[in-house]
Amino acid sequence: MNYKNITVAGSGVLGSQIAFQTAYVGKFNVTIYDINDEALERAKERITNLKPYYKEDLGATDEDLNAAFDRLTFHSDLAKAVADADLVIEAIPEVVQIKTDFYTELGKMAPEKTVFATNSSTLLPSQFAEATGRPEKFLALHFANEIWKNNTAEVMKHPGTNDRFFDEVIDFAKAIGMVALPLHKEQPGYILNSLLVPFLEAGQGLLLNEVADPATIDKTWMIATGAPLGPFAILDVVGITTAYNIANAKAQAGDPHFVKLANLLKTEYIDKGKTGRAAGEGFYKYPNPAFAKADFLKG
Ligand code: NAD
Repeated sequence: MNYKNITVAGSGVLGSQIAFQTAYVGKFNVTIYDINDEALERAKERITNLKPYYKEDLGATDEDLNAAFDRLTFHSDLAKAVADADLVIEAIPEVVQIKTDFYTELGKMAPEKTVFATNSSTLLPSQFAEATGRPEKFLALHFANEIWKNNTAEVMKHPGTNDRFFDEVIDFAKAIGMVALPLHKEQPGYILNSLLVPFLEAGQGLLLNEVADPATIDKTWMIATGAPLGPFAILDVVGITTAYNIANAKAQAGDPHFVKLANLLKTEYIDKGKTGRAAGEGFYKYPNPAFAKADFLKG
């Protein structure tokens, strides 16, 4: 692995996790860049709040965690934050203009050697390739929330990415404990959401069309495929607000099916506070949802 100095830009939900995980494995110096000192203070708090999860899920000790924290450096000055970076991982807001402005600045400030990777969930790297000034050293490196245990890293090229940097970023992802998943072509939604979104929409379509209820739909999928969760149990984890936002975007584009689906999710679930597992209720009631009970698959 020829990377040593990693800069994470944006220290929100995902950026703080990426930075801490990179520091935790002990092989890298990690710099966190955010827009001002208040944001950096929030990052320190966020990272401190990750420590109990590392203890519970990975058996980390206080020594491990304190050593990881000590490998972090915090900067609100972009030039200083990237002065010797081998790799910059961008996890700033999912807003085209914010990212374009950031890459334009970064392209000027970073040394020639620096590779840039975006963690964007819905925007494609080709949208920003030109702004970076180094399209061949730019690609996507997409993590899942709670990266220390949901350890997928989808590594995706855009048409101008050079294979050498694609391979290096795959190696880096492995070095920080991820399972690296190479995508050789640009794909909106990467692999996971290209599979998951249509699957969840198919389940919701059966409900909307009054073909079957959520438990029957989930049961069918679980028994027939051996999967541990059906679409509605997954929707409860994702959160029904996210499903609503996706349906609503398609409704606004004029699709009448999604107008009805968005309306159903809003009136029957969101307005009643049933937004999913985190709220204690969605399609199922938690902490003991019906699908987890022994007799669910029996009849
Ligand atoms: P967030 O809102 O929690 O954090 C964004 C951070 O970026 C904040 O700390 C903010 O201060 C900082 N920021 C704003 N403007 C900036 C700038 N110009 N330069 C540097 N920092 C700036 O966002 P998030 O949920 O962590 O998402 C960040 C990126 O990661 C998005 O592209 C998103 O699509 C992606 N992502 C999010 C998730 C998730 O579950 N939240 C999962 C995978 C990928």
